[in-house]
Amino acid sequence: MIKKFVKKYFESFAFFYSFLGYRIFIIVGFNLLIGILDGFGLTMFLPLLQMVDGSSNVDSDSMGKLSFLVDFLQNSGIPLNLFSVLVFMAFFFFAKGITQYLAGIYKVSVQQWFMKRLRVSNIRGLNNLSYKYFVTSDVGRIQNTLTGEIGRISIAFTNYFKALEYGILVMIYMAFAFSVDAQFAVLVTIGGVLTNFLYKSLYKNTKGISRTLTGETNVFQGLIIQNVANYKYLKATGSLKRYAEKLEESVKGIEKSNKKIGKLEALLTAGREPILISVVVAVIFIQTTYLGSQLGPILISLVFFYRALNYLMQMQVRWNKFLSVSGSLENIVDFGKELRANKETKGKEELKGPVERFQLRDVSFYYDETIVINKISLEINSKETVAFVGESGSGKTTLVNIIAGLLPIDRGEFLINGLNSRQMDVRSLQKRTGYITQDPVIFNDTVFNNVSFWDEKTETNLRRFWKAVQQAAILDFIEELPDREDEILGNNGTNLSGGQRQRISIARELYKDVEILILDEATSALDSETERAIQQNIDELKGKYTILIVAHRISTVKNADRIVVMSKGKITNIGAFKSLIESSPYFKKLVELQEV
Ligand code: ADP
Repeated sequence: MIKKFVKKYFESFAFFYSFLGYRIFIIVGFNLLIGILDGFGLTMFLPLLQMVDGSSNVDSDSMGKLSFLVDFLQNSGIPLNLFSVLVFMAFFFFAKGITQYLAGIYKVSVQQWFMKRLRVSNIRGLNNLSYKYFVTSDVGRIQNTLTGEIGRISIAFTNYFKALEYGILVMIYMAFAFSVDAQFAVLVTIGGVLTNFLYKSLYKNTKGISRTLTGETNVFQGLIIQNVANYKYLKATGSLKRYAEKLEESVKGIEKSNKKIGKLEALLTAGREPILISVVVAVIFIQTTYLGSQLGPILISLVFFYRALNYLMQMQVRWNKFLSVSGSLENIVDFGKELRANKETKGKEELKGPVERFQLRDVSFYYDETIVINKISLEINSKETVAFVGESGSGKTTLVNIIAGLLPIDRGEFLINGLNSRQMDVRSLQKRTGYITQDPVIFNDTVFNNVSFWDEKTETNLRRFWKAVQQAAILDFIEELPDREDEILGNNGTNLSGGQRQRISIARELYKDVEILILDEATSALDSETERAIQQNIDELKGKYTILIVAHRISTVKNADRIVVMSKGKITNIGAFKSLIESSPYFKKLVELQEV
């Protein structure tokens, strides 16, 4: 029972504490101070009330335990008159105002610092993520968590700390109320607790819906991303409408959940006050009619109570708002754990000197239970050009990704310059690798930035740039652009042809100082003339880089030093073009087919 209570209220506290540390207690301290100053200020109303009938006598007894305030003033020789009481009242409220201002500034800076840390920790988590985890996970969820959910966490933060602040104020005002008139306080508290049961079930509901909402939003984000990514296909095949229907269903679900949460919130906000006032009215009536109590202390106690109740209501509104986004908190906690759990395992040793040799010995790789690379042994030497062919799904891309250090092997050994891949810091290999994929990567920026990856535009870098674009056979095109290298390639390069996009991304890799070039079906989007031009350039690069080509087209592999023929995760043949035609019937058939 206690464990459950602690878990319920302090899980979120633990989450914030893990980020904020001692700062949480400074915020709490500020709130305590604000409440106490406010309480002292309000207490000054009691002597004022006693002066209502014109008398200047203050009877400190009727202030209950708070009489020490008035006694203190009297004992320190300050005359207790209208003027001094008003001055003290003003002093307390000014001090409260100043504290509130400082607390506000402090809270905002802590919140922004918290958001920054959360964002940075997620960015780092994403950057350190293992590629295998990334390709097998839900992109919609990752995207949603990194963008939308972070916004919701900010709302969660604000509301959690508001609720905490109000909770502290409630406790302080209650303490003041009890000090002035304990009987009244006890009766109202009993009434308040009873009404609280009414709200319990509402909270539970809100939390449930919040979880559903997070799930629905993840699904929606995923659908939208795929909609954009596959837009051309969906449009060309007339499937946009069907897809839009799916999206709309998802939108409707989100609307429904949000409406439900909104309705519950409206009920909570509107219902609380009338219910509590009924309790207060009943208690005052009972006390004055049957218990013969004085109205003065009741009134001051009521003022405190009213403040306490007001903050209690606000606290509950805030808490409910917090709960409505707490699904995101759980999500981001899980997400953070997941990112850490799926961190890329990398060794400590840096790869030194140029890459001389890749050695794979009985290497196997699995996706879940499915074996994708099956006991492959292969050696690749520096500056060799090796092409991988085989039917789709035979494991070509996976094998090349293993060599690029993107995917860790499950069985066997993978050595680079004799260094075991498990001991190696894969980044030291990846920094030397250029990767040209089937989908050229174009950033929303100038040609120069796309190729140089935001290098400074110095003369040396410009020379490197022009050399790279020339090697990638896109020099003429860039020179004819209105702004030349400063032309913006908008919207993932939609203003370029497939071939041009490909050539820009080839130029980017050539601009880098890489040793290994990986071309994954790199020439698939090219017309045959451009392909020939690039082929020529690749042939020129031959011997200067270690080149790994994943290709279907025979023309791209013709000049490779060695061709690796793959089938069902295994290597069936290795050899130069001519010898393979003799030794591999599959390869021979492939060549014949394409020559036709
Ligand atoms: P290729 O490049 O020869 O077409 P791949 O290396 O891309 O083949 O894929 C090899 C096998 O691995 C295929 O059967 C494919 O279904 C499987 N595979 C690829 N990526 C994933 C993934 N992210 N999750 C599960 N299986 C995958």
